[in-house]
Amino acid sequence: HAKSLGRGAACVFDPAMDDSAQARMALERDLREALATDAFELHYQPLIELDGDEVKGFEALVRWRHPQRGLISPATFIPLAEETGIIIQLGEWILNQACREAAGWPSDVSIAVNVSAIQLRHRGFAQTVLLALAGSGLKPERLELEITESVLLDDTEANLQTLHLLRSMGIRIAMDDFGTGYSSLSYLRRFPFDKIKIDQSFLRNSDESAEGAAIIRALVGLGASLGITTLVEGVETEDELAAVRAQGAQQVQGFLFSAPRPASEVAPFFDANRKRAAAA
Ligand code: C2E
Ligand code: MG
Ligand code: MG
Ligand code: MG
Repeated sequence: HAKSLGRGAACVFDPAMDDSAQARMALERDLREALATDAFELHYQPLIELDGDEVKGFEALVRWRHPQRGLISPATFIPLAEETGIIIQLGEWILNQACREAAGWPSDVSIAVNVSAIQLRHRGFAQTVLLALAGSGLKPERLELEITESVLLDDTEANLQTLHLLRSMGIRIAMDDFGTGYSSLSYLRRFPFDKIKIDQSFLRNSDESAEGAAIIRALVGLGASLGITTLVEGVETEDELAAVRAQGAQQVQGFLFSAPRPASEVAPFFDANRKRAAAA
């Protein structure tokens, strides 16, 4: 009987396990190994202030450099990292790496780091953030944490306390992919976000672009009256940029300006900022 052979053997010989389950297990094993061998890297995408076209900061986006499969997108492995708990260690690595790299940038450029709900809920998350700041020398004012609405759905009290604690230290909190979750507006009252990132689906859906535009305009207005910065994600074309400007958003992010790039390729944005400042 397979069971008597122990866990590992049961996995290998279990005829009930289909190919996709096998593939998942292989992926999970690779993920643990990747963490041990430093196979992850962060790419950075600029966040642009529309008033003056200045690069205010960058969002860190994790990639996995796989020996056979090349660069793997986070959409493929973050969900599995969350299910397996690997996200705790991976998230710690991401925070440390992002703070370390950003500490070498001009002091007015900030860094935004995505935080999964599981990470935030984990005891010791605030401590992990503090250690990343202390270890890198990055000022808390330069760090922005991006969370999604799902964070506020469960475990609300503990999550809110952690967010308040981080915010009291000077770290900014952004709500990511705003408008894709549930009853979003009530969250804006329950927690004082510093920024909302309006999901790119409001730009993209061309059939309903008039409605998308109306929604962006309303969210920008709401943000303005609550003192919250609004950013529109996923700006790809000049037409979209013009529309977003007309809607009054303060910041944008998207392929029109730059795709996420490796840390070694962000310096030209600092030069551009300096030139603009000198010309002003
Ligand atoms: P997100 O946080 O909403 O990140 C924005 C995603 O939109 C990125 O995809 C970015 O490459 C993409 N994007 C930016 N501009 C454009 C554009 O103009 N057009 C289009 N079509 N897409 C654009 P990416 O890097 O594949 O990341 C996907 C998601 O994976 C992220 O969505 C985030 O939820 C998650 N993720 C990425 N890095 C991390 C991380 O370090 N930690 C955690 N927990 N999640 C991460
Ligand atoms: Mg994000
Ligand atoms: Mg987003
Ligand atoms: Mg998104």
